[in-house]
Amino acid sequence: MFDKILIANRGEIALRVIRTCREMGIQTVAVHSTADTDAMHARLADASVCIGPPAASDSYLNKVAILAAAEITGADAIHPGYGFLSENADFAEMVVEHGLTFIGPTPEHIRMMGDKVVAKATMRQLGVPVVPGTEGQVDDEVAARAAREIGYPVLIKAVAGGGGRGMIVAQDEDELLEGLQLARREAQAGFGDNRVYLEKYLRRPRHIEIQILADEYGHCIHLGERDCSLQRRHQKLVEEAPSPALDDAGRQAIGERVSRAIGDLGYRGVGTVEFLYEEGEFYFIEMNTRLQVEHPVTEMITGLDLVRAQIEVAAGRPLGMRQQDIRFTGHAIECRINAEDPRTLLPTPGTVQTYHAPGGPGVRVDSALYAGAKVPPYYDSLIAKLIVHDRTREDCLHRLQRALAEYVIAGLPTGIPLLQALAEDADFAKGNYHTGWLTEFLATWHPPAE
Ligand code: ADP
Repeated sequence: MFDKILIANRGEIALRVIRTCREMGIQTVAVHSTADTDAMHARLADASVCIGPPAASDSYLNKVAILAAAEITGADAIHPGYGFLSENADFAEMVVEHGLTFIGPTPEHIRMMGDKVVAKATMRQLGVPVVPGTEGQVDDEVAARAAREIGYPVLIKAVAGGGGRGMIVAQDEDELLEGLQLARREAQAGFGDNRVYLEKYLRRPRHIEIQILADEYGHCIHLGERDCSLQRRHQKLVEEAPSPALDDAGRQAIGERVSRAIGDLGYRGVGTVEFLYEEGEFYFIEMNTRLQVEHPVTEMITGLDLVRAQIEVAAGRPLGMRQQDIRFTGHAIECRINAEDPRTLLPTPGTVQTYHAPGGPGVRVDSALYAGAKVPPYYDSLIAKLIVHDRTREDCLHRLQRALAEYVIAGLPTGIPLLQALAEDADFAKGNYHTGWLTEFLATWHPPAE
């Protein structure tokens, strides 16, 4: 097992990894920018190294500075968290070349799934149903022909895309030609790669994803699904497990199919295979080769520690469990609490004046906040995750309402009022929602007066 792990991240996910390391008796090294000198992850780790100025490109994305920090502190592995360098195959390769372990899959698998066109082709070959679309990147002429075949509306997506950004819906050929130009420009600016491809645009799908866990000896199991259909601008806000749309047989069928495919790939680590789900059919859209923001809902219903599992398989241990050992208990819901205006999505950085996190039975808070903490403007606006667990979905919703009412984060606006409205909504309570539902909800929702 590793003696010392460097965590190449910040915020709640850095804390999440530090916590498991401590329980496993592994030393931790935090890295931080000059904007995060007083951040909780830098304080909680056994050692902490400043790796650069605030801009992420100079600090949390600075591969050389992070490797130097690992070398100086004698770390033997690097955990990338999510975001930042977590799906950067070049970084994973550099880590390995320096004789360290990257806690994640091989660079080859990261690269394969990072190219969404290659990912879809690979999954199709492995017998996983994919969303209809072009087989590769497209120029205008090929795109127009393909769109006629697929049928409008179509969705233009970046081959190197991520974070819900840069997707454009086209209703007809005029919109397609205009959208292609815009999408290429945005993809070049956002991902440094202007290649785009087309997919059939599903109108009212759910987003259902399967969590998998695999060791390097070809054993792969699935840990059920998460329903992440509550999104705005293609970004998740609330996630739950199990999905209100699936029954046990449906869950088992898709789970087995996915774990077989990922096992055949020889993949190692945790991963998430994402699908759109409409009228009883699954359509693969992408695979994330890292720990996800919403992994706690799976931990709550399985009782597993996914970070521990990740560290163990990265250290070359075989999976200590089989599919039949996995039991799903109760229901879990996660809310992402962002420092942002819930309607404009503009970040609202600032200083936390008063802080009180909810507690009690079945409540988990993953956050790096404390009274006096600064929320800098340079990074993602996710500041806390509230996860609740209970026997049934109905009980879970009551617990969520109760926990949200207890949560005090004073000093900067957060998304809590919106989450409270969602937790009390009748349609949400029935589980009747799809990926466009929250956008419709926001059109008529007004934040309560102070
Ligand atoms: P990213 O990697 O940027 O997060 P994804 O491919 O995971 O992009 O898609 C994010 C979200 O965008 C999905 O959860 C869904 O809401 C929407 N989306 C993606 N592809 C389609 C599609 N073909 N039809 C309808 N909605 C889609």
